Amino acid sequence: MLKTEKNNMANINNKNLKLAIQKQGRLTEETLDFLRKSGLEFESYNQRLFSSCRNFPLEILYVRDNDIPNYVASGTVDLGILGQNILNEKRPKVKKLLNLRYGFCSLILAVPKESGIQDISKLKGKTIATSYPQSTKKFFKNNNVPVKVINISGSVEIAPALNIAQAIVDLISTGSTLALNDLKVLTKIYDSEAILIANEETFKNGKKDLLKKLITRFKGVLSAKDYKYIMMDVPEEVLPKIKKIIPGLKSSTASQLTTSGWLSIQTVIKEDVFWETIEKLKQVGASGIIVLPIEKIIL
Ligand code: AMP
Repeated sequence: MLKTEKNNMANINNKNLKLAIQKQGRLTEETLDFLRKSGLEFESYNQRLFSSCRNFPLEILYVRDNDIPNYVASGTVDLGILGQNILNEKRPKVKKLLNLRYGFCSLILAVPKESGIQDISKLKGKTIATSYPQSTKKFFKNNNVPVKVINISGSVEIAPALNIAQAIVDLISTGSTLALNDLKVLTKIYDSEAILIANEETFKNGKKDLLKKLITRFKGVLSAKDYKYIMMDVPEEVLPKIKKIIPGLKSSTASQLTTSGWLSIQTVIKEDVFWETIEKLKQVGASGIIVLPIEKIIL
């Protein structure tokens, strides 16, 4: 720890909200990006232990993600951002507040391709290597398949080749590491993504109003991810059809164009039905469609 950092740690303002995030790893960059999109201004660089936000009473602490559940449960910090997988594994007494829509991955059970194993019952009495022993034991217990679980902290995929396990339970996102190690997915145990958790007391103490403000900012960024802003020109007579395609149209703007009989419409549409909606709009005669990303939606 740098001497100056150590001294600065004593300067953390205890009235401020404290948020723990992963110091170095897969979630770090997207977490910093998410916080900045929420309008928070702070410095961040390697070796930093904490940053104070310039424009919000928030201290960000950079820690190992495995330690975040304990820090939040014990009240060392008020909030944490981590993978749902760590919460499932450690099961601390904390409150989950939001799914943050990045850091997607799945905890899966995999076996060597040439093992011929197609069904988890065939793993009865076998050894399973994992960094997620609690999730693994729970999964096999629920499926009534007794196995031996060994805890390995990294490079779990190598365990079958080393003959120390016949199957593995590990996190994957694309599955390319599994394929490289001649393993195949037998089944998925659960899906995971980055989440925001809080200490239960934070809702009762003097920080609850700050917490509400911060959550409003986070939700604004998350809602914006779900919608696109569109502008289009439509013949006046097709307006009833357009209203059927976009049910939320009552809150949009329609203005007269200089070409008589034409309207300009501005509205938002949901990302998950985006292409279907655009195709339908074109079919009924919408033209000059312009689509823009939305930075935030405050509901
Ligand atoms: P790491 O930096 O490897 O410790 O990973 C931190 C977190 O990233 C994990 O706890 C997961 O929530 C998330 N993650 C997303 N994709 C993956 C993946 N393919 N393997 C491991 N973790 C992943």
